[in-house]
Amino acid sequence: MRIANVDGRAVIVLDEGFVDIAAVSNGRFAASTREVLAQLADLQSWFALESPAVTEAIAADELERSGRLGPVVDAPSQIFAVGLNYRTHAAEMGLTPPSQPMIFAKFASCLAGANATFPIVSPRTDWEAELVLVVGRGGRDIAVGEALDSLAGYCVGQDVSDRDLQMSGSPAQFSLGKSHRNFAPVGPWITTRDEVPDPNDLEIVCRVNGVTFQDSTTHDMVFHVPEIVSYVSTVCELRPGDLIFTGSPHGVGQGQKPPVFLRSGDNVVTTIVGLGTLRNHAE
Ligand code: ZN
Repeated sequence: MRIANVDGRAVIVLDEGFVDIAAVSNGRFAASTREVLAQLADLQSWFALESPAVTEAIAADELERSGRLGPVVDAPSQIFAVGLNYRTHAAEMGLTPPSQPMIFAKFASCLAGANATFPIVSPRTDWEAELVLVVGRGGRDIAVGEALDSLAGYCVGQDVSDRDLQMSGSPAQFSLGKSHRNFAPVGPWITTRDEVPDPNDLEIVCRVNGVTFQDSTTHDMVFHVPEIVSYVSTVCELRPGDLIFTGSPHGVGQGQKPPVFLRSGDNVVTTIVGLGTLRNHAE
């Protein structure tokens, strides 16, 4: 099942249109994706039983480009990110991969959806294609073997990064450098985990102005998805709708020789095969 935020309401995306969940269920399910994610098992049973007609007939690929898709979760209580989680990316940054997951925050006010624009805040504004985990049941002290069950699904994300602020000072300033306005586009929709047999077997691609800079597989993560979820949950309670950016493969602008950074008007297109494409551009 694909769940999106269209015009601020939780919908189920079908190839030929979308179903407004709260309207069609007469309020049995919530109008916000965050609340719907806490009701996911019930929602899936209801949908299978009722197979409701679409609320609006619009092809999924047209919807994806429409500008109507907000962030997949409107107001997550927490947005985590994992730094240096691909060896080849750590190497291109000139850094050593950490021995335990390196966690920072993308503050919630930087969240954006598909087709959102973001500002060029410094001469070193960079892209990072990432798989984003969407928490379902969540919890504390989640065992590695139960970690995938605590998730609702997955989406595509961009960890837009201001390298000047990120690398200013010592120690570095990851959280603020990655939290400018609209620096966390996510989307285009959530694909529920039952449709993703292995989140660490997905092709992840980033194209800037049509040029492919990143093309890797999530299999190359240093810490795979279950380990990340379990690790974070030993400290923070994971709640429905929380998001976890899982790190970028190699091929960011900083890693090019010579480095390449985003400029006003650049198009950033991020694809995870099976999860969809997220289009954003620099203001
Ligand atoms: Zn990142």
